[in-house]
Amino acid sequence: MPTPSLRLYNTLTRTKEDFVPIDAANVRMYVCGPTVYDYAHIGNARPVIVFDVLYRLLRHLYGESHVKYVRNITDVDDKINARAAERGISIRELTEQTNEIFQADVKALGCLEPDVQPRATEHIAEMIAIIERLIAGGHAYAADGHVLFSVPSMPEYGRLSRRPLDEMIAGARVDVAPYKKGDMDFVLWKPSSASEPGWDSPWGRGRPGWHIECSAMSWKHLGEVFDIHGGGIDLVFPHHENEIAQSRCCFDTQVMANVWMHNGFLQVEGEKMSKSAGNFVTINELLHTERFGGHVWSGPVLRLAMLRTHYRQPIDFTAKALEEARRKLDTWMRAARLALDGEAASQAPSDDVVAALSDDLNTHAALTSLDRLFNTAGEGQDDAHRQLAANLVFLGLASRSELKKPHVEFVSVDADKVETLIAARLAARAAKNWPESDRLRDEIVAMGVTIKDNKDGTTTWEVKR
Ligand code: AMP
Ligand code: ZN
Repeated sequence: MPTPSLRLYNTLTRTKEDFVPIDAANVRMYVCGPTVYDYAHIGNARPVIVFDVLYRLLRHLYGESHVKYVRNITDVDDKINARAAERGISIRELTEQTNEIFQADVKALGCLEPDVQPRATEHIAEMIAIIERLIAGGHAYAADGHVLFSVPSMPEYGRLSRRPLDEMIAGARVDVAPYKKGDMDFVLWKPSSASEPGWDSPWGRGRPGWHIECSAMSWKHLGEVFDIHGGGIDLVFPHHENEIAQSRCCFDTQVMANVWMHNGFLQVEGEKMSKSAGNFVTINELLHTERFGGHVWSGPVLRLAMLRTHYRQPIDFTAKALEEARRKLDTWMRAARLALDGEAASQAPSDDVVAALSDDLNTHAALTSLDRLFNTAGEGQDDAHRQLAANLVFLGLASRSELKKPHVEFVSVDADKVETLIAARLAARAAKNWPESDRLRDEIVAMGVTIKDNKDGTTTWEVKR
């Protein structure tokens, strides 16, 4: 097999490097998954979409059966305990419900299912085994029913995050406890009260700390050292730093994973997303309600909006960007549907799309190629349309069955014409020319479009399905 030229930015080295898998017949990737206690927000969707694109690319480059993608489900966590108590349901009920919603949300976003989605609660034995080895190796100690990782036992601690030592100590001091020997030591295992979930262990009944979960699940499903580890940039410290410390010290390896990849943060309408700022947006409400920007947004539109920005850049998630993505996708879909003689979408993606993604997932450049194809396509069915269809499927922006459907009325709406009519109607209203304003409204509605006059004097529109 020719060696594909994939280059990825590695947080560990802070450089873009040629990707060389440990075993090209078994390329292995681990991504930190959700803690299932509440609806996932649109920021959580970013790593899921980004690493889905990478998964698709790896499968294309190395063959579908030669890539193993593991994304865990954190179903033991103190936030889960608190929420279950608040809602008066069992932990199991809460984690099952939340996981089901998460799976449906990310499927709607066009993400393939990872090969394995391990649950933390099903890997307690592996966690205990790692902790025992760490204790035996002098990297961890038990104290007061807790087991702590001894940070001074690992000289290379901090290599990933490159944080100055005093900053790490200051961060860790938030969590001072009498059982800690070193300021930066972190919890591997902690005791559980009778009402908290717990498992029997050599240190009494207890439950794992968060970081150990990922060391255990990645080990079980991918081995001691694997190719790619991913997650959001906020996980670099302390979560990934601690995963590395645990796994490397347990297995006595030079690295835990060769390449560490992190997506940038997402903010909403220019602000950090938070419940208190009132701009907290869940994937579920974007897909099923009109709460954000007055529209229900389809999964592919949300996905396209996300992929227009490079994954390492911060992204500002706005209703305006969603509207732009919606129009673009409509245009592409209309053209791609022209091509469909059944099999076009099974074609391979275009070389320039693969090349763009192979350059550290340059999705922006890949999407520019779609625009280029669209612009070269003629009126009827031709190869450019077929390529467009194949690329849309490859990028997870359309499914084959979706492309085979006839293009529905609403996507053939001429957006420029709608905008012109709306502007004319607003002018007529400003001049109090009501008959003209009504006539224009009728003309717009006849195109299959509904309009909404907003309090701020603007008019938004939507194509009726
Ligand atoms: P959490 O449930 O907070 O552990 O987050 C799950 C995943 O979503 C992790 O990979 C986080 O890094 C990522 N994530 C959380 N918030 C954001 C955000 N606002 N933007 C991008 N990624 C995020
Ligand atoms: Zn993790």
